[in-house]
Amino acid sequence: MDPKTHNEPQHSEEAFRDSITTIDNEGKRAWLFPSKPSGKYYSLRSYFTWLYIIVFISLPFIKYNEEPLFLFNIIEKKFILFGAIFWPQDFFIFGVGMLIFIVFVALFTVVFGRLFCGWACPQTVLMEMVFRKIEYWIEGDSNYQKALKHGPWNADKIKKRSLKFIIFFVLSVIIANILLSYVIGMDNVLKIITEPISKHTGGFTSMLIFSSIFFFIFWWFREQACLIVCPYGRMQGVLLDKNSVVVAYDYVRGEERHKFKKNEIRTGGDCIDCGLCVKVCPTGIDIRNGTQLECVSCTACIDACDQIMESVKLPLGLIRYDSEKGIAEKKKLHFTTRMKAYSAVLLVLIGIESFLLISRSDYDATILRAKGMLYQEQPNDQVSNLYTIKLINKTRDSMPVDVRIENMVGKVEIVGKALGVKKEGMNQGEFFVYINKNLIKQRKTKLVLGIYTNNKKVKTIKTSFLGPTE
Ligand code: SF4
Ligand code: SF4
Repeated sequence: MDPKTHNEPQHSEEAFRDSITTIDNEGKRAWLFPSKPSGKYYSLRSYFTWLYIIVFISLPFIKYNEEPLFLFNIIEKKFILFGAIFWPQDFFIFGVGMLIFIVFVALFTVVFGRLFCGWACPQTVLMEMVFRKIEYWIEGDSNYQKALKHGPWNADKIKKRSLKFIIFFVLSVIIANILLSYVIGMDNVLKIITEPISKHTGGFTSMLIFSSIFFFIFWWFREQACLIVCPYGRMQGVLLDKNSVVVAYDYVRGEERHKFKKNEIRTGGDCIDCGLCVKVCPTGIDIRNGTQLECVSCTACIDACDQIMESVKLPLGLIRYDSEKGIAEKKKLHFTTRMKAYSAVLLVLIGIESFLLISRSDYDATILRAKGMLYQEQPNDQVSNLYTIKLINKTRDSMPVDVRIENMVGKVEIVGKALGVKKEGMNQGEFFVYINKNLIKQRKTKLVLGIYTNNKKVKTIKTSFLGPTE
């Protein structure tokens, strides 16, 4: 039995709620064959895709101070943003950064709907503007693809499917490699590619796994990623309101829809019920049913409808970017209370993040009194305490360290070799603090220590010094 395809218009007003566009009546996957879009928005998206891909590929090759400009090395817990190195110790900066991102996404969605999905989401951009275009090139437009899928495995089908398989797999490998370079750096990816596999078994395996996942998504899973997996799509129900700008059908102007007849004087709505907006939709929905979770704002239906409107000499924009309020009441977008509230929260978070970034130190140190030890009586009326020190150097230069007592007279003696941290490294060590008994008036004395590198104080740490009470 031929699988049901949903790129056909549905007429009953609420019928679309009874089924999912990509599941047939038997509960199996209904394969979509969207027609090739063309028009103003499709051209604009094509140019944007080129820019997007150039940036995506070239960023891992750009270096600053011999390090990548961006790195998200979750394995070694090393993160570089615009050349600045961040460590797990800077996690609160990341935490606030994530909050800003979430509020920004919420605010952006409240105002502009799913604009991001259509124009900048890697899934939509790569699926619709790269892999789908290749599919059109190899297999032809919607009807040819349908015929090929349901036709016998003859020479033509084997040739086309093999070519598509090879190109899709090579592209998936390239995407996986580029993505991996954002995690482990381009130098390491090039090593995995050029050196024997035995030297990089782990790296090579991850590359294969990533490549296979991408191949699976673009070859088979496709729109299901947006419909089933993507959490952002699921959030639309709570984020969108009547003022959000979405890809929308102007039902005020379009209804009552009825077929176009040449030389007739049209009395009903402008929609000629040609179904083209449904045929081009990559998620198989009918935008005339209103805003739906499946709509990824790809604009294909805007282009399709504009072409039809042009051919029947009716005004363009029957499907366009607009809000529900804009369509129903012909009102322009205005700044609602919800937008104001989100903007206020966003501004506060940006303020906090800026403060954290400005006050972020390149060095970090923690000093703790050695566990389980009190104090040691030493010759010449001296008392000593043993401390452990943990040092983090976030800079690209090595850091010689010396510890000085800041609030009283005493002596610091490093245990073992001199303290120091390699560039972008961590180190720990131990040191004794010696204080004369006469200066100790209580069991616990406040001790202020300064951490110096090249005679420059980089941190002040307050701790305590234990001593005899009399
Ligand atoms: S309804 Fe229109 S904008 Fe939404 S996914 Fe379908 S074609 Fe794209
Ligand atoms: S493309 Fe335009 S005219 Fe054709 S069915 Fe869709 S909304 Fe109506």
